[in-house]
Amino acid sequence: MMPAMTRNAYVGRFAPSPTGPLHRGSIVAALASYIDARAAGGRWRLRIDDVDSGRARKDAVTAILTTLEALGLHWDGPVQYQDPRRSDYERSLQQLARAGLAYPCACTRREIADVARHGAAGLIYPGTCRGGVPAGRSARSWRFINAADCLAFTDRHAGAQSLNPAADIGDFIIRRGDGLHAYHLAMVLDDQALGVTDIVRGADLLPATFPQIALQQALGLATPRYLHLPVAVDDRGRKLSKTNGAAPADSHDPGKTLTEALTFLGQSPPSGLARAGAPEILDWAVVHWRPERIPPFYETGA
Ligand code: GLU
Repeated sequence: MMPAMTRNAYVGRFAPSPTGPLHRGSIVAALASYIDARAAGGRWRLRIDDVDSGRARKDAVTAILTTLEALGLHWDGPVQYQDPRRSDYERSLQQLARAGLAYPCACTRREIADVARHGAAGLIYPGTCRGGVPAGRSARSWRFINAADCLAFTDRHAGAQSLNPAADIGDFIIRRGDGLHAYHLAMVLDDQALGVTDIVRGADLLPATFPQIALQQALGLATPRYLHLPVAVDDRGRKLSKTNGAAPADSHDPGKTLTEALTFLGQSPPSGLARAGAPEILDWAVVHWRPERIPPFYETGA
């Protein structure tokens, strides 16, 4: 007899932007999301976050897939790409607009920078076009009305998180002036389409969780659980990033790459495990996964 499927079976995902090869920090996010999914008996999906088509690179997509395969991080189902999903994004944008939760905006980045103050996730839009695009101006982008005065969630690693969306974030872009849908809107719809129940990713994305939950609530979507990981930094304390030239992860020595990431995640792999093959290391990691041992944010641990 088939085991009964629970309605909320775990679905995790890794969602790299194809702006360069995976580096040490992206491997940490890939590995932790993979292990967390497998330890829960769940599925692990892969999405290529190519919504920003101007920055997406084909060679980076190939490099990402090749590295994950070399490290034994095999994903379930087909890879999800964002580019073919634009009509879904647009449909949800129109749904928000009809509900009075989104509005067209004429402001340029420059105009906003001149008057806006900084908040939890960048500049806070001063609300210029909320009451309508000023006469003589034409709409460029679309914004979400982020008017709630409190939004809270519990991160599985960092604990209780809360802020005031109206004061700390403000109305954010959901479709850009160049017509591309913005990352927050795309990603909540993609995660919904994949049935994602658990998001495990770097703490640099923790502030993004608030606009994303605000959109989930406005669109009537379920909010997944979140676990944000410490961010890998270089020897000058800067976050590693695909776009600032961080060294690509070493896929020729999977043992070293995987065990270094496990050490970073506080999982203390036994000495000698680095000489094992990727499948054996991943088996060890799934059986011994202790998320409570992940170090606090901004400690490199390795
Ligand atoms: N595409 C994003 C990045 O590479 C990550 C998105 C996410 O995990 O939510 O930084």
